[in-house]
Amino acid sequence: MKTPAHIAVTGAAGQISYALLFRLIAGDLLGDDHPIVLHLLEIPEAMAGLDGVRMELIDCASPLLHDIVISDDPYVAFENVDLAFLIGAKPRGPGMERKDLLRVNADIFAIQGRALNVAAKRSVKTLVVGNPANTNALIAQHNAPDLPSENFAAMTRLDHNRAVSQLALHCGCSVNDIKRVIIWGNHSTTQYPDLHHALVRGKPALDQIEWDWYEKEFIPTVQNRGAVVIQKRGKSSAASAANAALEHMRNWLFGTPAGDWTSMTVLSDGSYDITPGLMFSYPVEIENAKYRVVQNLETSEFSRERLKITEAELLAEREEVRHLLR
Ligand code: NDP
Repeated sequence: MKTPAHIAVTGAAGQISYALLFRLIAGDLLGDDHPIVLHLLEIPEAMAGLDGVRMELIDCASPLLHDIVISDDPYVAFENVDLAFLIGAKPRGPGMERKDLLRVNADIFAIQGRALNVAAKRSVKTLVVGNPANTNALIAQHNAPDLPSENFAAMTRLDHNRAVSQLALHCGCSVNDIKRVIIWGNHSTTQYPDLHHALVRGKPALDQIEWDWYEKEFIPTVQNRGAVVIQKRGKSSAASAANAALEHMRNWLFGTPAGDWTSMTVLSDGSYDITPGLMFSYPVEIENAKYRVVQNLETSEFSRERLKITEAELLAEREEVRHLLR
């Protein structure tokens, strides 16, 4: 039997976590021979709800679930963790502006970054899902100076999956026939879903679709998909977000398939003329649990304009939280 993996999940009584935790103990991330210790963090007001989730996890009688730690203290919850899913975040309340939301959540991620810095394994891989995810990840990373910066990421995998599925639906093919889609930038409506390098059945996607569909339907559909799901369901897209978080982490640990890449929000090193030090979604290939931003892709003027728009939004977000950055 393998040594148990310690996995932290924050906002553990929330909707996304509810869709994630049961898949973790079913072996969907690490396989069905890898025991897991869950470390669940919540705010004090949500601890009763979290206890209910803990009971349901126990009631699954999963042979993989080795133990559960629950706490409202991040220093306890993050002790010795190998992986951290930072999902909990305050939703925007009535009358609250994006700026206020940024500030409230910024404090949460600064505290959690500091706790990870002290308590987690030095190799901990941290994925931020709670919004505004890119900037929250930046704050967590800055507040964890003793951990490798490349072990912090934010999630654009749901946007990536949405783009793959929309393209497959339009082309009447399987998602297995789609490769090399890219989501650039922020996990927000300024994100740029790029098909310039995408392949459909091994051939360039842009030769097989109409430009008008790409620009006027595909891009806005992917950018606004989350809001439309909320409109229809009356609730946000928690299950597909949990699925994306799981897939993001699985690729990060076990690699991307040959001939393909995925989209992941990581610390910019200046690639593609993006300001270094921003958390920016790039195409990445992963091998031996380390990502590498795919280099030397040609960017058209159309693409460069959109990269600049999403970069500008991230620069503005960073200004709002500068007091929390080192
Ligand atoms: P969810 O579990 O549905 O969402 C959690 C976060 O994920 C939100 O910031 C949400 O952003 C974000 N998110 C990212 N991608 C998606 C997506 N595709 N679809 C939906 N959400 C997405 O929220 P709940 O309110 O159900 O649960 C949050 C939990 O976090 C609560 O139990 C609460 O107690 C806890 N919490 C913990 C805090 C802490 O750890 N200090 C602070 C505040 C809350 P968006 O809101 O923009 O949809």
